[in-house]
Amino acid sequence: MGRWKSGRVVSTREETPSGRSIVLDVPGWGGNIAGQHVDVRLTAEDGYTATRSYSIASADGSDRIELAVDRLPDGEVSPFLVDVLAVGDELEVRGPLGGWFVWKPEQTEPVQLIAGGSGIVPIVAMIRAHAAAGSRARFELLYSVRTPSDVFFASELEGLTTTYGRTTVYTREVPTGWPVLPGRVTREVLAEHTIPASERPSVFVCGPTGFVEAIADWLVELGHDPARVKTERFGGT
Ligand SMILES: Cc1cc2nc3c(=O)[nH]c(=O)nc-3n(C[C@H](O)[C@H](O)[C@H](O)COP(=O)(O)OP(=O)(O)OC[C@H]3O[C@@H](n4cnc5c(N)ncnc54)[C@H](O)[C@@H]3O)c2cc1C
Repeated sequence: MGRWKSGRVVSTREETPSGRSIVLDVPGWGGNIAGQHVDVRLTAEDGYTATRSYSIASADGSDRIELAVDRLPDGEVSPFLVDVLAVGDELEVRGPLGGWFVWKPEQTEPVQLIAGGSGIVPIVAMIRAHAAAGSRARFELLYSVRTPSDVFFASELEGLTTTYGRTTVYTREVPTGWPVLPGRVTREVLAEHTIPASERPSVFVCGPTGFVEAIADWLVELGHDPARVKTERFGGT
């Protein structure tokens, strides 16, 4: 699993009412592939530890990594990372982890990205890596998010739309003038707004467990090869 490394918080930024991004300087990190994650370990004064996984939003080969965490009100670790952790604090991390849910610039096939809520984090790493490499692979994102203010990395995602296509589905509240009512992604929305199975895209689905499982089942029903549908479950229902 690799050894634990100490990262120092160099900056944080409020991204949404319940989430923020955190940039860590991790000496000796050595880079990561877009889509990978880290384990973060918190240790209390009495020695009690709690470990959780967080996707890495960056993939630039440096010793800096960016995480983005959504606060679960009754959670053990996420409220600390969102509300308490401060610039200059040390955080133990282990990684990079995961070699399956990853996108590499040498891949040329079309890519369909599907994110629910904070499941956008590893997808942002892929969009950033795709733009940085000047990749010509077709990239499409279907992003399900509660309200316009819950969009992580909003201005950057908007700025990069010259390199990828995006459809956003708002589940609770839509922007002013939006042509459709709020609602969840359905099988029909999926069929209409994603790259068809006939084009054999690689598909990356990330978000809460229930979201990922429903989407993955529909993708297979829509004819996608299960081997091309890669999923990352963040937990919950
Ligand atoms: C590979 C991987 C990558 C992840 N990347 C990210 C990331 O980039 N950003 C991020 O914010 N989270 C991410 N997560 C989720 C993260 O690991 C934690 O599960 C999350 O922060 C909750 O931890 P907690 O200690 O606050 O809550 P806990 O104390 O563990 O749980 C509190 C309650 O919330 C429920 N719950 C746990 N996780 C979720 C969830 N994701 N959604 C809804 N309910 C949940 C639990 O069942 C429990 O009832 C990732 C998970 C995995 C496996």
